[in-house]
Amino acid sequence: MSLEEVYDVTIVGGGPTGLYTAFYAGMRDLGTKIIEYHPHLGGKLHVYLEKVIWDIGGLPPTTGERVVENLVEQGTTFDPTVVLGERVTRIERKAGVFEVRCRSGAVHLSRTVILALGYGVLNPKKLTIDGAEKFEVTNLYYTVGSLSRFRGKRVLISGGGNAAIDWANTLEPVAEQVTISHRREEFTGHERSILDLRASSVRTMTPYSIKELHAEGDEISSVSLENAATGEVEKIEVDAVIVNHGFDSDVGFIEENDFRRKGEYCIVVDEHMRTDIPGIFAAGDLVYYDGKLHLISGCFVEGATAVNSAKLYLEPEAEESAYVSSHNERFSEKNRRLELQGAIGGR
Ligand SMILES: Cc1cc2nc3c(=O)[nH]c(=O)nc-3n(C[C@H](O)[C@H](O)[C@H](O)COP(=O)(O)OP(=O)(O)OC[C@H]3O[C@@H](n4cnc5c(N)ncnc54)[C@H](O)[C@@H]3O)c2cc1C
Repeated sequence: MSLEEVYDVTIVGGGPTGLYTAFYAGMRDLGTKIIEYHPHLGGKLHVYLEKVIWDIGGLPPTTGERVVENLVEQGTTFDPTVVLGERVTRIERKAGVFEVRCRSGAVHLSRTVILALGYGVLNPKKLTIDGAEKFEVTNLYYTVGSLSRFRGKRVLISGGGNAAIDWANTLEPVAEQVTISHRREEFTGHERSILDLRASSVRTMTPYSIKELHAEGDEISSVSLENAATGEVEKIEVDAVIVNHGFDSDVGFIEENDFRRKGEYCIVVDEHMRTDIPGIFAAGDLVYYDGKLHLISGCFVEGATAVNSAKLYLEPEAEESAYVSSHNERFSEKNRRLELQGAIGGR
């Protein structure tokens, strides 16, 4: 990848929005680059890879993990340049070209930019206990990932919101014993999930916080929990600890550039997904407009709209949108190849 090359469109963020946007940008013949902070594509779906998603149009109930695989396959159809592990920290326009600056010092050049940052870079809130980080390679988890790794284990989940309760309910039939501790008296998840939790074999400890981790070798073997009301400390034996204390979200450079904001995380766009800065468009969870829906399905339309706006910005005489894929010549050769491989769904 040459950093001197000027791309037609640079998409910041490789979540569902960024990936579908890259696909549609390919349909519009735009030289495309995706820049993603994490070392993987898929965005927030990595928070719920094991969950089943029901509300993407035309897709039967599918795990988050499979949706990521499908999105990545579709998003790379037209071979966009994909840059992983790079955090965009600033965008400046110089002589009609945007300089997309990264924390590493790299500068990517682009004629237009589509922001697909979601709520920015999300990182799980970590346990603030000295030395806790060394267990992240053994049995301290901030995301659940595969359920099978908890099979037959004694699991402590720390947290009182939806994610923590949800994982407690999901792991109950898988693990040997699940304990959930929360620093407040009451859980704050959905009523139905809390009822399920109360009716299950999950042991609830409130108001308790993790005070100390005890190790045998490289692994946590027991945890001391302190009761916030009485100060009493209880030590429980564990095979795994899952911490669900929420996420720190950082929209970073959005704050420095001159975007109109809505709330802490969103920027305002018009119906063409244009921001207030000509040549910079946005889509997905990051954007706000009247009637905005925070659904993956909505991200797709917004991504395509942003691409069409970028295309017209670059080529005012271009068609307003791409020709539908079922009748688009661009796919003829690809269809022939897939046909030969027997890889077209529904045939
Ligand atoms: C627990 C949970 C369950 C959900 N379930 C559903 C569901 O069932 N159905 C549904 O439709 N929706 C669901 N959603 C919502 C859905 O996940 C979001 O609407 C969707 O992920 C938004 O996609 P996005 O690409 O806009 O943002 P994201 O998925 O957040 O992706 C944004 C990407 O941009 C990257 N990024 C941010 N800042 C930078 C930067 N400065 N430089 C480089 N990269 C950057 C981030 O690392 C991230 O990968 C759920 C959300 C959560 C949290």
